[in-house]
Amino acid sequence: MKELIFATHNQNKVEEVKAVFNEYNINSLADVDYHTEIEETAKTFEGNALLKAKHIYDVFKTAVFADDSGLEVAELYGAPGVYSARFAGEEKNHKKNNAKLLEVLAEATNRKAQFKTVIAYVDANTTICFEGVVKGEIATELSGTGGFGYDPLFVPEGYNVTFGALPSEVKLKLSHRSRAIALLFEHLKSLT
Ligand code: IMP
Repeated sequence: MKELIFATHNQNKVEEVKAVFNEYNINSLADVDYHTEIEETAKTFEGNALLKAKHIYDVFKTAVFADDSGLEVAELYGAPGVYSARFAGEEKNHKKNNAKLLEVLAEATNRKAQFKTVIAYVDANTTICFEGVVKGEIATELSGTGGFGYDPLFVPEGYNVTFGALPSEVKLKLSHRSRAIALLFEHLKSLT
């Protein structure tokens, strides 16, 4: 089976991808014994995804992909974007991030937002990016206990409950990450 590294320290993401993609042997950074944090210093999702994928390709010379995602809120001109994890401070606290989001949108009439993921894929011949988006709105209060991050506040288009309140299989189908990953897999299939 072909080897592919998913350049992430997030084991949940790796399991998610392994569950839907069994034509490759997908290795996490832990699987290849790489434990250093790769700093996300770029100002765009694409920049951060490329930075991580290129770095790991340079180390292992094996086909690799990396992702970067976040929440873009229309009223905030696309913020928090690449700073989604750190919206309320460097401690990357999801509860505080959600509280801050509710606070800054307290008077907002436009609550439109989208989650975005960019996946960068690098092998010996190619460097290519894929984007997945899910549109929705920011609720006026937290609800649901599923998922992580901004899930208790994000109501995807076509639904009237948050990602946090939807069954995990439903979120998985709709999510920005799944959409970007589906595009990556199509690309990989086209290579064979
Ligand atoms: P990452 O790049 O996928 O680690 O995401 C960065 C940050 O964006 C996370 O810490 C969350 O705050 C937010 N985020 C990304 N994807 C999701 C999601 O599916 N649900 C909720 N929050 C998310």
